[in-house]
Amino acid sequence: MGDCIFCKIVTKDVPAEIVYENNEVVAFMDLKPVSPGHLLVVPKKHSQDLLDASADDTAALFEAAKLLGGAAIKGLNAHGFNIGVNTKPAAGQVVFHTHVHVIPRYDNDPLKMWSHMDNLSEELNVTAQKIKSGLV
Ligand code: 5GP
Ligand code: ZN
Repeated sequence: MGDCIFCKIVTKDVPAEIVYENNEVVAFMDLKPVSPGHLLVVPKKHSQDLLDASADDTAALFEAAKLLGGAAIKGLNAHGFNIGVNTKPAAGQVVFHTHVHVIPRYDNDPLKMWSHMDNLSEELNVTAQKIKSGLV
């Protein structure tokens, strides 16, 4: 896609520190890591976000993310990893080429990924019914 920075990384028209590549995906270091070893995995075929990605690309992304998370544990002595996919601007997506964040984690590191709500404005079962209605 014309102006997409991650497409240009895939075609090597823009440099990136590439860690892994196969027929479907490329993985490279995030320019502004939130944790040492923060990687991005992207499909070679452009899609704008996870909802737009094919089933094959989705499977390939998560297989590669799992592989690279394991490699971070072995190679960086990380103690775990988070996998994240920001989907739509409300979720923090700023680059509109599907990508999976692989974020190595270290015992007692300062990263806080989730803040839980103390009070829910709706009952869980009401919310669950609304999500179910979105499946059809
Ligand atoms: P998002 O917020 O869209 O999920 O994440 C986009 C990520 O891409 C950010 O973590 C950002 O640091 C990274 N990023 C943006 N532009 C570039 C780039 O040109 N090269 C690399 N390696 N990472 C980038
Ligand atoms: Zn793209």
